[in-house]
Amino acid sequence: MAKHILIFGPPGAGKGTFSSQILKVFPEINHISTGDIFRENLKNQTPLGLKAKDYMDKGELVPDSLTNELVKDKLETNVGKLWLLDGYPRNLKQAGFLDEITNIDLFLLLEVSRDIITKRILGRYSCKSCGAIYNKYTLPPKKEGICDNCGAEIKFEQRSDDNEETLKNRLDAYEKNAKPIIKYYKKKKLLKKVNAENTLELTGDQIKSILEI
Ligand code: AMP
Repeated sequence: MAKHILIFGPPGAGKGTFSSQILKVFPEINHISTGDIFRENLKNQTPLGLKAKDYMDKGELVPDSLTNELVKDKLETNVGKLWLLDGYPRNLKQAGFLDEITNIDLFLLLEVSRDIITKRILGRYSCKSCGAIYNKYTLPPKKEGICDNCGAEIKFEQRSDDNEETLKNRLDAYEKNAKPIIKYYKKKKLLKKVNAENTLELTGDQIKSILEI
């Protein structure tokens, strides 16, 4: 079983949804999402959040100097534990840095076309009470207006970077950097592809077989 997992794919590929499915099957895995950490810092107006804000608003990558330190700190607090790193590395320098500080067992690539991504991202929202993710086109709550996860009346919250212009920049940034990263992990024989064209709803057995290495 993979102990240190990277989850990779364009914005809107379903990394968050897929990660939460993995965590349901393996609750002992720690989910570390650099995007979530930055958003949390931004919400709390920490020095890190304030430094990252402009980059995030434009859909650009936050400088490696900030991001690498954040990841290093997180991994240091998770030594000896199972983890799933989501949103990192985003370029080859970050991949090299990661190799200096830890070892990776599995690189999961979620594959999905640009058309589908656009629909997913522009329709994406979350429940303000518990953070459960929905989509007005592809993943509405079972009962309109009520959160499947916490049962609260949904107060919609949309990520501030889920808008058309920022999305274009985020997709361009992804496409520019993705190929060399995928090649890097393929060469290390860590690459496993997951078809993410449809909303990912995998069974426990399917997830187990993906994480078996
Ligand atoms: P995400 O939720 O992964 O799409 O990340 C949201 C935003 O956080 C990105 O558009 C970047 O501005 C920033 N970010 C997240 N992860 C990284 C990373 N590994 N390197 C640089 N910036 C990042």
